[in-house]
Amino acid sequence: MDLSRRTFIKFAGAAGAAGLAAKPARAEASALRTVNTPAVLVDTTRCVGCRGCEAACGESNLLPPPAQPGSDAVFSTPRRTDPSTYTVVNRAAASSKEGDVRYVKRQCMHCLDPACASACLAKALEKTAAGPVVYHKERCLGCRYCMVACQFDVPKFDFDSPAPYIHKCTFCAERQAQGLQPACASVCPTGALQFGHREELLEEARTRIYQNAGKYVHQVYGEFEAGGTSWLYITDVPFDKLGFRTDLGPTSPPELTRTALAAVPFVLTLWPPLLMGLYTFSKRRAEASKSGEKEAHHD
Ligand code: SF4
Ligand code: SF4
Ligand code: SF4
Repeated sequence: MDLSRRTFIKFAGAAGAAGLAAKPARAEASALRTVNTPAVLVDTTRCVGCRGCEAACGESNLLPPPAQPGSDAVFSTPRRTDPSTYTVVNRAAASSKEGDVRYVKRQCMHCLDPACASACLAKALEKTAAGPVVYHKERCLGCRYCMVACQFDVPKFDFDSPAPYIHKCTFCAERQAQGLQPACASVCPTGALQFGHREELLEEARTRIYQNAGKYVHQVYGEFEAGGTSWLYITDVPFDKLGFRTDLGPTSPPELTRTALAAVPFVLTLWPPLLMGLYTFSKRRAEASKSGEKEAHHD
């Protein structure tokens, strides 16, 4: 390899350019996150467990009717979403006092920087500029990385289907595109679900908390968890009692991965050739200076 000083500098320049090339992807991800995205504020103190949201979700997404409609028995065991149920309302004991319970609606959180989309090699899950994290089933390879990546245990695979796909809450993206609110929020009779812009809902949540300081837990769940989500929750019972994960930090998993991976191309791909370049460059200089010395001796 004929490595002159000029070629070496070019080499180093290429390394710098490669480092810079990683930045647009990061900027793109944060641009999606900073959009004042549509969101839903869930106030668990207002939820009465009527499950109207479950029924509306099923109807809007052409899913089977909710399990055990009208029956209190449905609350005996906490349920998870599944391929035919994109949202569930669970009941949790708020204290040891009999009848002191809270109802909590769960669904995809539509993370601002979603781990599911980041893990999907086929881009079948996509964080849209409009806010919802949508699923393109025609792109899905069935690898189920999204299921492993999601920290909220949301995407579900319909193993029983002859044509299995991933299923999860769509945030009623099509309704939103028509200027409508999500079906679940549109039917909630108590105002437990409030649809709007995330920043305004965060303000609303903080106002409710500060105006009822002795009532609410001083936290809006989803404001920071896993990098922030489009579904926000407030409650008067500690979140862990309601089945929420409270071990999620403020950095999204994709951000953690991006930061770690950003170093990999440089360390693993560019750093060794750079070192080799430096080695060859100094070796040639040494050889050149040796032959110069020899020539000087001959003179
Ligand atoms: S909750 Fe899970 S499935 Fe929903 S956007 Fe976040 S990572 Fe994806
Ligand atoms: S946003 Fe739409 S898909 Fe998601 S839970 Fe509500 S009704 Fe179901
Ligand atoms: S419709 Fe509203 S009040 Fe009824 S279960 Fe759903 S969130 Fe609760």
